[in-house]
Amino acid sequence: MTRIFNFAAGPAVLPEPVLQQAAAEMLDWHGSGMSVMEMSHRGKEFVSIAEQAEADLRELMAIPANYKVLFVQGGATLQFAAVPMNLLRGKASADYVNTGEWAKKAIKEAKRYGKVNIVASAEDRNFSYAPVQSAWKLDADAAYVHYTSNETIGGVEFHWVPDTGSVPLVADMSSHILSRPVDVSKFGLIYAGAQKNIGPAGLTIVIVRDDLIGQASPITPSVLDYRVQADNGWMPNTPATYAVYIAGLVFQWLKQQGGLKKIEEINRAKAALLYDFLDETEFYYSPVEKSDRSLMNVPFRLRNEELNDEFLKLAKQNKLLELKGHRSVGGMRASIYNAMPVEGVKALVAFMREFQTKHG
Ligand SMILES: *Cc1c(COP(=O)(O)O)cnc(C)c1O
Repeated sequence: MTRIFNFAAGPAVLPEPVLQQAAAEMLDWHGSGMSVMEMSHRGKEFVSIAEQAEADLRELMAIPANYKVLFVQGGATLQFAAVPMNLLRGKASADYVNTGEWAKKAIKEAKRYGKVNIVASAEDRNFSYAPVQSAWKLDADAAYVHYTSNETIGGVEFHWVPDTGSVPLVADMSSHILSRPVDVSKFGLIYAGAQKNIGPAGLTIVIVRDDLIGQASPITPSVLDYRVQADNGWMPNTPATYAVYIAGLVFQWLKQQGGLKKIEEINRAKAALLYDFLDETEFYYSPVEKSDRSLMNVPFRLRNEELNDEFLKLAKQNKLLELKGHRSVGGMRASIYNAMPVEGVKALVAFMREFQTKHG
């Protein structure tokens, strides 16, 4: 068996001990004689898995009691619609911050359900930075303020939490949730697709403050209505059971690593290895403003783009995969989520150094 270092943006690398445990439990989960995939979502075995997963997530993120945690389906993309459907609450408009590809998609979808005001944008400099709070033209009557706290494609991360006063703050945290502690109480709603930093695709996590639940627009499909989800223990219908189970194992693994404070330290050290190297060389460069660089998604470019194909080919020979940047921006991108071991980042930097020596 050969495992490679997988720098994909998502679906992405998972912790090896989690995969091993899942393999060991595949045919017979805890003496049940069944795979988790075969279990009724209403049976006591799966209910215990689900309760443990939610409790562990609550503990890891220190989620206050007045927030519901929902394990839903449809990806972050379905939340682009669910958020306005649930949170517009009869108000005239919502504020959105445009920081790149994912923000643009959230904005486009929200426009189907209400008026969207773009209160800040980083488009003027090719989405290479996070607009400072003083540049946000917030509307005090907005239903909510939405931003993408980590732009997976552009590699731009907010290292601060915006202050939106009494207007609920909504964050798409898909690609950096659980990478460090966040003060959940500053948010009205947080959502994240699982396949970046949590577990398998098919699961989406929504963390929503109680007072924002129960005012969905009448056209809202019932599974998208946070009240229906909350009132039914996020099982009004069948949830993504196996994905919930794997996410639960990832939460346990995170707790064993020492929790989010410790994970943040490790993530900072991993990202520093790569960014310090990018800053010392002339051969490669980071297109992102220093203060806003993502700890999870590290886009970089070769000054001589003609070497891109050769770079990717040799990287693959060195078992370093999925380094090609998103088709919309080109260049390279290394996603170094929680589950990427520091050895993977070291191997990448060593390879980049060697490639530079050969071609520089
Ligand atoms: C991947 C991603 C999405 C889309 O997730 P899906 O699960 O494919 O819908 C949305 N927002 C961000 C920030 C992402 O990284």
